[in-house]
Amino acid sequence: MKFTSRPLLYLAAASAVNAAEPPAPPLPAQIAPGYATIRAESLRADVTFLASDALEGRLSLQPGNTVAIEWIVSEFAKAGLQPIVDDGYRQAVPLVEYRADRAENRVSLTRAGTTKPWAFPHVAGSYKDDVDVTASVVFAGFGITAPELGYDDYAGVDVTGKIALIFDHEPQETDPKSIFNGTGNTRYATSRVKLLNAQNHGAVGVLIVGEPNRKHPSNQERIAKIGGSATRSLSLASQVLDNHELRIPIITISDVVAQELLATSGALPSALQEKIDRELQPQSRALPDTAITIHLRNTTRRRANTYNVVGLLPGSDPSLAAETIIISGHHDHDGGSGSEIYHGADDNASGTAGVVALAHAFARNPVRPKRSLLFVVFAAEERGLLGAFWMAAHPLRPLATTRAVINFDMIGRNEEASEQTKDLIEIPADTTNRLNLIGGFYSPDYARTVAEENRRVGLVLDDRFDHESALNVFFRSDQFPFVLKNIPAFWWFTGFHPDYHHVTDTADRINYSKMTKIVQLAFLSTWRFADDATAPRFVESPRGR
Ligand SMILES: [Zn+2]
Ligand SMILES: [Zn+2]
Repeated sequence: MKFTSRPLLYLAAASAVNAAEPPAPPLPAQIAPGYATIRAESLRADVTFLASDALEGRLSLQPGNTVAIEWIVSEFAKAGLQPIVDDGYRQAVPLVEYRADRAENRVSLTRAGTTKPWAFPHVAGSYKDDVDVTASVVFAGFGITAPELGYDDYAGVDVTGKIALIFDHEPQETDPKSIFNGTGNTRYATSRVKLLNAQNHGAVGVLIVGEPNRKHPSNQERIAKIGGSATRSLSLASQVLDNHELRIPIITISDVVAQELLATSGALPSALQEKIDRELQPQSRALPDTAITIHLRNTTRRRANTYNVVGLLPGSDPSLAAETIIISGHHDHDGGSGSEIYHGADDNASGTAGVVALAHAFARNPVRPKRSLLFVVFAAEERGLLGAFWMAAHPLRPLATTRAVINFDMIGRNEEASEQTKDLIEIPADTTNRLNLIGGFYSPDYARTVAEENRRVGLVLDDRFDHESALNVFFRSDQFPFVLKNIPAFWWFTGFHPDYHHVTDTADRINYSKMTKIVQLAFLSTWRFADDATAPRFVESPRGR
C-alpha cells in the first residue's frame, strides 16, 4: 500500500490551537498537587531500574519479570492504592508454556488418492495440546460475520466439523470509502476474531493466508523484518492462556499452499478476492476433493501463573464511584541473558513507569476524582496480550461501567524509520514532541477530550496509525481486548524505531522530557474521563472518514 500524505486530524487541531486560540486556562488548583509529582527524574530512575541488566529483560514466567511485578506491587502499596484481589495486588493469569516441535509439525493435503505434507515455513502455527485433525476444507472468504454491515462470509456454507480456509485482514482495505473503516482496520480484521468466529460456526481448525491481492507484506513477512527478538539465538517458548476461549488450532499457510488448496475452487485466489472486494458478496464454498490433516506436537509443556498487578483508587462521588477508568501498561518483555538482554526500556519499562507515576500522582492529590481509577500493569503482553485478555474475560470491576482505558505501551522514544515500517508508514520529519493515539475511530469523544487537555501540554497528537492496515498496530497492545468489549480504549504510543525489540532498547535512549509530557497529558485526560458528567461514547461500527 502506498501511504500518501493526508491531513493529520490532531496535528491540524493542535497547530490551529497553538496559532490562533488563547492559551489554555491555568491548571485547576485542585489538581495541581498531583500534577506537580510527575517529574522526569523519577521516570528516568524507574525506567533505568526496570530496563537494567539485573531484570534480564523481564521475560514472562522468569525471575526478572517477578522482580518487576514485586516492584510494581510495592509502588502501588506505597501509593496507598486499594488491593482488590484476594492476594492483594496480584491477579493470577494461568498460562500454558510449550515448545512446538517443528520437525514433527505438518499439514497434509489428501487429494485424488495421494497425500502431500507441508512443513514450516509453508505452514506455521502451534497449539498448546497435541493435535490430530483430519477434515475437508471450506473456503470462507475473509472469515468475517458482520451483521451490522450486512456482510457474512459464512452465509450459505456449513463449516461444522470442517477446516475453514480464510484470507487475512478485511475486504476493500485500500478503499478509503470501505464500509470496513476505510483504509484503517476494524475489529473484524484480526485473526483472533476470525478464529472465534470459525469456532462459533463449528469449524475444527483454521488455515489463514495473506490476502492474495494484498499491497503490503503478510504478517509473517513483516515479523521477519523486525530482526532483534525475531532472530534471537534461542527462540522463545510459546505461552497461551490456560482454559481459555480459543479451542481450535489456527495455521498460517503460504501463498503457494493456499493456491494449491484453492485449485479445486473453480476460481483463482486473486479472482475470489477481487469479486469480494468489488461486490461485498461472499464467495465462500466447499473445496471438492480437499482433505487436510493437521498434525501438531510439542517438545515441552508446563502450566504456571503470571500476574497482572492491579490497584484501585476509589472514586469520591457516591454515584459515580461505581464506574471505572483503567490506566494500564505491560511489565513483561523479551528476556535474554549475558550479552543478549532485551532491555525493553521503551517497551515497556516506559509505560510501566508511567502507570506507577500516575498512581502516585492521583494518590497524592488531596482531591480525589469522582469515578474510580483502576491502575493495571498487565502480564505477558509480548506473548500475545495474555494478561489483558485474561482481565477482559475475568474483570475485577464491571466492564459495562468501565468508561475509558488509557494504555501506555512504548511512550518514551522519538519515532524513527526502521526495517519493519519501511514503505508502510510515513514518518514526519520531527517526532521529538509527537504522540500517536490509536483507536480514534472507536471513540471520537475520547480523542476530543485528550486534544482539549493537550492545550495545556502542547504535544503534537497524531492519528496516522488509525489509517493504515499493514502494521496491524490497532491489534498489537493491551487496549485491544477492551476495544473488543466496546470500551473506549486507546493505545498511547510514541512509535517504532530501530531499537524496537532489539537489545539496544535501553534506558539512556529515552526522551524523558517528552515522556513526562505524555504522562502529564494522561493525568489531565484521566481527570476529565473521571469527572466529566458524560463519559466518552463508543462507536461500535466505524465507517471510516
Ligand atoms: Zn509492548
Ligand atoms: Zn513489544
